[in-house]
Amino acid sequence: AREKADAARAEEKRRATAAAGGWLPSGAAQAVEGVPAAPGLAIGRIVRMQPEGMEIPDEPIELGRAADLLHVALAQTAEQLHALADDTARRLGESDAAIFRAQAGLLADPDLITLASQWLVEGHGLAWAWHRAYEDMAARLSALRNPVLAARAADLRDVGRRVLAHIDARFARSSLSDLPEGTILVADDISPSDAAGLDADRVAGLVTALGGPTSHTAILARTLGLPAVVGAGAGVEGLQSGTRAIIDGHGGRLWLDPAEEDLASARDWIAAEEARRARAAEARALPATTRDGHRIDIGANINLAEQAAFALDQGAEGVGLMRTEFLFLERSDSPTEDEQMEAYSAMARALEGRPLVIRALDIGGDKQVAHLDLPREENPFLGVRGARLLLRRRDLLLPQLRAIYRAAASGSQISVMFPMVTSRGELLELRETCERIRQELAAPVVPLGIMVEVPSAALLAAELAAHADFFSIGTNDLTQYALAIDRQNPQLAAEADSLHPAVLRLIDLTVKGAEVHGRWVGVCGGIAGDPFGAALLAGLGVQELSMTPRDIPAVKERLRQSDRPALQALARRALACPDAEAVRALAAEAP
Ligand code: PEP
Ligand code: MG
Repeated sequence: AREKADAARAEEKRRATAAAGGWLPSGAAQAVEGVPAAPGLAIGRIVRMQPEGMEIPDEPIELGRAADLLHVALAQTAEQLHALADDTARRLGESDAAIFRAQAGLLADPDLITLASQWLVEGHGLAWAWHRAYEDMAARLSALRNPVLAARAADLRDVGRRVLAHIDARFARSSLSDLPEGTILVADDISPSDAAGLDADRVAGLVTALGGPTSHTAILARTLGLPAVVGAGAGVEGLQSGTRAIIDGHGGRLWLDPAEEDLASARDWIAAEEARRARAAEARALPATTRDGHRIDIGANINLAEQAAFALDQGAEGVGLMRTEFLFLERSDSPTEDEQMEAYSAMARALEGRPLVIRALDIGGDKQVAHLDLPREENPFLGVRGARLLLRRRDLLLPQLRAIYRAAASGSQISVMFPMVTSRGELLELRETCERIRQELAAPVVPLGIMVEVPSAALLAAELAAHADFFSIGTNDLTQYALAIDRQNPQLAAEADSLHPAVLRLIDLTVKGAEVHGRWVGVCGGIAGDPFGAALLAGLGVQELSMTPRDIPAVKERLRQSDRPALQALARRALACPDAEAVRALAAEAP
């Protein structure tokens, strides 16, 4: 029965791909199905990365010498990670580099060192003791079944293996730097180290058995512009190196042994896509104005000032979402008010007067900050998260607001936005706090908006709009709360579709509620960066779309080719659809 259901789901997915203008083979062809993680179509040959399964011999040495060698290996690894972080920052940006800065932090964990020392004291060899220590600790983290801790376990194994290679070069991993051109890399999982070391000129795509669409693999693949499919499960098991394949990062499939005619049609599709990208790139500096003159504002979702130049180059007209929790996530203490003010001012300066929406801390849920020592919750997504945490932790809220108002005092176009607001009471309390701080600092008035990302806020949009200057809809969370699907669950990723009509109806209610008080509405969730999604949102009356910079050119192009009445008609039809597949099918005939 399960197999049948899987087959039916695969068939449904294929229909959706066809409807969205994606590539499909002409006849019956064999495919491994996974979760789309980074878009693009590429032809190549499979290279199967073997799982580690390393045997570490236990070769006892004298304790003092072991301690010295471990000390040296740890120092060498730390140095290597800092170099790797600097290199990654230059090539990919500071947010990808942060992965390695965090890994360097793991090396200093006293529990890990104590564990290794205990095995050494018992008379075991250095490589053996170190391997055992990090594997035990990683296994303990994985067993907690928390996705954030599971990711930390993967980082710990990654960094643990680096140290191992410094202890004894026999345990160095085979390098991924000499892959043949056109490699489709297939692995159980790809560690951040492996992903950052990939040569994007030789690798055509990535397929992993594990991982979800928000894993490190997915993020790095998107940054590198490589198609990626994750969570393909047992499907990757029998795959042989050398097999020719077509990877479809948008549909989430790896097509095996394609026929000549399918290879030819895939090549045509890739060429057409490249031409479309080139056209979009030329027009990306132009505004997203429909043919009949209706303009949609386009923002970027970026967190650091150094990403602003790239975002503006892609055609961003400002920043619609600066996620400030990232200032807290990769370090072992909280940034001070002055440090925060510097981060916000730097972003405002980099935008040269363009609008900047700073989102107050959204901690909790999937964004856990270890050094805050927050109580463990059974269901963190339903717990003290976002605005709920800010209202309970003045020590976090007040310095952040002071920093924002101080940054706003220098004449920039800053707005503040609060995450996870579920009630009018929360909004009023946050507003009062803002006003008190503003007066204390004699700072200018800044627009105060909220994220609409829980169904209660969408349903009571008109009541909230009375007290909020603008709304930005967080479709990532709105989808998970409307459909009761954990946004990090890879098994349900395909069903967590933000174009589900239930989500669209909540967006429709939000826009109508905002209209009652003349407030503007934006969308900063992932669907804003999907050209069809963007068209639908514009049709629903959304005035601003904010997205990953790389998505901007295609979205602008899509909107520039549309007419507003046609988009509105599309939105009306989508609202009446019975399910997400029916909405996606509208893409085939959409204006
Ligand atoms: C969202 O929920 O859609 C959103 C933009 O916020 P985040 O992904 O940071 O939760
Ligand atoms: Mg959110």
